[in-house]
Amino acid sequence: MDISDTSDKPVNLNRGEEPPPYDPSLVEEKWQQLWRDRRTNIVDVHDAADPFYALMMFPYPSAEGLHVGNLFAFVGNDIYGRFQRLQGHNVFQPLGYDAFGIHSENYALKVGKHPSDLIPQNIANFRRQLERGGLMVDWTHSLATTDADYYKWTQWVFLQLLKHGLAYKKQAAVNWCPSCKTVLANEQVVGGACERCDTHVEQRFLSQWFFRISDYAGRLLSNLDTLDWSETTKTAQRNWIGRSEGAQIVFPVKRVDGDGDGDGESIRVFTTRPDTVFGATYLVLAPEHPLVKPLTGGIYTSAVEQYLARTAKQDVVTRKSSADKTGVFTGAYATNPATGKEIPVWISDYVLMEYGTGAIMAVPGHDERDFEFATVFGLPIVRVVAAPGEAADTPLTEAFTESSEGTMVNSSRFDGMPVREAKPAIVELL
Ligand SMILES: [Zn+2]
Repeated sequence: MDISDTSDKPVNLNRGEEPPPYDPSLVEEKWQQLWRDRRTNIVDVHDAADPFYALMMFPYPSAEGLHVGNLFAFVGNDIYGRFQRLQGHNVFQPLGYDAFGIHSENYALKVGKHPSDLIPQNIANFRRQLERGGLMVDWTHSLATTDADYYKWTQWVFLQLLKHGLAYKKQAAVNWCPSCKTVLANEQVVGGACERCDTHVEQRFLSQWFFRISDYAGRLLSNLDTLDWSETTKTAQRNWIGRSEGAQIVFPVKRVDGDGDGDGESIRVFTTRPDTVFGATYLVLAPEHPLVKPLTGGIYTSAVEQYLARTAKQDVVTRKSSADKTGVFTGAYATNPATGKEIPVWISDYVLMEYGTGAIMAVPGHDERDFEFATVFGLPIVRVVAAPGEAADTPLTEAFTESSEGTMVNSSRFDGMPVREAKPAIVELL
């Protein structure tokens, strides 16, 4: 029989006869041609009776072709779009290409071609592959983020953010390849070496752009309730957004034992646990913090300088993932505004300049990393939150990080207060 006959009439087989093998290229071509002829996937975006927008993230044409993971993701969206169409919606499912970024740059370097020649070539092949995938994409509406007609709007959006103070520059630690003379993304650092040239990656402190998304933490959190997402995903989102909710606390510098000129300075920290301020027994600055030099002097200088040099040699990935706690004392003391006590100011690479203020109040009783650090360097560990059944003097064998059911202890007038009430009360006091 003729297997190229893909009409829908039933195939009559004789007894014992094998059915013809399925040839997807023939079947798919026929239907895709029919969809094109009938303009099945083209939607009137202005006047559709019952519109539904099924937007999928755009693939990065940073290689010659799509990989199977792209189609894995697109098929899910396509099924959802088809379902909505069967429900009677006019489904608009556009696709485009997001060609900016490090992966396109790397691929261009690898094949020795300018991105402006390479990207259109990749896009043509992506389009061919996507069409073969049979997705219900409206190809009359498509874009590439590298088109000047499109990126002028990316620039416009950035300018609006800048105008409203939502885009700002800040010093941050980055991976630096001294041989390629370029900044590397964390993904490009492989075992501490540059993925392009295998040179040992260093850390540089450079001015970077940031978006002030923390201004929207409240809205982001409350809008999660209206989303039809899994609880696991919502919880992960809440934890991520929640990190930006907290208080800034100022620790005045009390005295500088070396000959640094940091007297009268203040150290600002951002904390999500203001309720634990009575347990802050030391401060830690990121090695790149601008106050490190003014606070250090005399006998402390050489140890601090050695530590700064050591940190600068590390790449950002190693630094963030390192389990070993290292650090040095600057010789300076600050006043804990809650207890009035003098607490030492240390520097350590577990504090990152780009997070918060680049300084933390260390609460070893209730933070795992602070607990490890205090244990290594023999710094005081004070319990200020007690779980049900625990008392102010119940020993801490590890950091107690749970707060929802906790009660305040060793916290002066807040003793006995539930943690959730103490948080706003302490912020008020400070
Ligand atoms: Zn390199």
